[in-house]
Amino acid sequence: MGKVYLVGAGPGAADLLTLRAARALSQADVVFHDALVDEAVLALAPQARRVAVGKRCGQLSTAQQFINRQLVDAARRHACVVRLKGGDPMLFGRAQEELSALAEAGIDVEVVPGVSAAFGASAALGCSLTRRGLSRSVMFLTPSVGKGEPEHAWAEAARGADTVVLYMASRQADAIARGLTAAGVPGARPAVLVENASLPTQRVLPTTVARLPEAARQLGGGPALILVGEVYAELIERAAELDGAAAERRSAAA
Ligand code: SAH
Repeated sequence: MGKVYLVGAGPGAADLLTLRAARALSQADVVFHDALVDEAVLALAPQARRVAVGKRCGQLSTAQQFINRQLVDAARRHACVVRLKGGDPMLFGRAQEELSALAEAGIDVEVVPGVSAAFGASAALGCSLTRRGLSRSVMFLTPSVGKGEPEHAWAEAARGADTVVLYMASRQADAIARGLTAAGVPGARPAVLVENASLPTQRVLPTTVARLPEAARQLGGGPALILVGEVYAELIERAAELDGAAAERRSAAA
């Protein structure tokens, strides 16, 4: 019976992987990976058979139960099985379902943590999630609803923290803005969209809650976070300064 490693692949850049993750990959006989995982990360397991079990918004995804079964089968046939997940495996990654299925089958599992998208994005922004006097709490939140859950329950929850990081939300920016506003979050509250954090294709769009839909229309198709909180006020000011300088340059040139 083999062992399964549930490994965090980080936000995208291969060198944001932990050394422990790289070691597990170098020993893997088979790697089951999400669609979000970059080729440069998979290249750390050149000897392994690759199985894409990716979930990607709006595209066909492998049913969770089928993934669970594949993991169990692989562990019965191989010494080292890596299940590679974007960011940290324990955050919005259906890790519990996989851990339970493996435990039920009596298979040894080790979880290797990773850099979650929120941390990749914060590094890119140069803007701390917490700040003395401004933000003492951070919430990782997703608007994506499970079976039987009320549709806007997430928005109520968003009031519970100073800084809110929304995962799997950028494609529904209109609903996010409406939900937050209905829950009492001011439309002028600073927000920022970060797409492809840590990758060369990274994009940063500072905005406000009210203007989220407009800003989201500028996104490409990559994974993106919506971050909301007063800590991002200075990003908006910085962007306005840059805009102002650009406008000045344009009128000087005219
Ligand atoms: N376990 C992952 C999150 C999985 S949910 C983690 O800890 O990061 C998938 C969501 O993560 C995407 O919809 C997007 O909101 C976010 N995400 C993943 N990679 C990202 C990246 N490089 N930049 C911005 N957001 C990212």
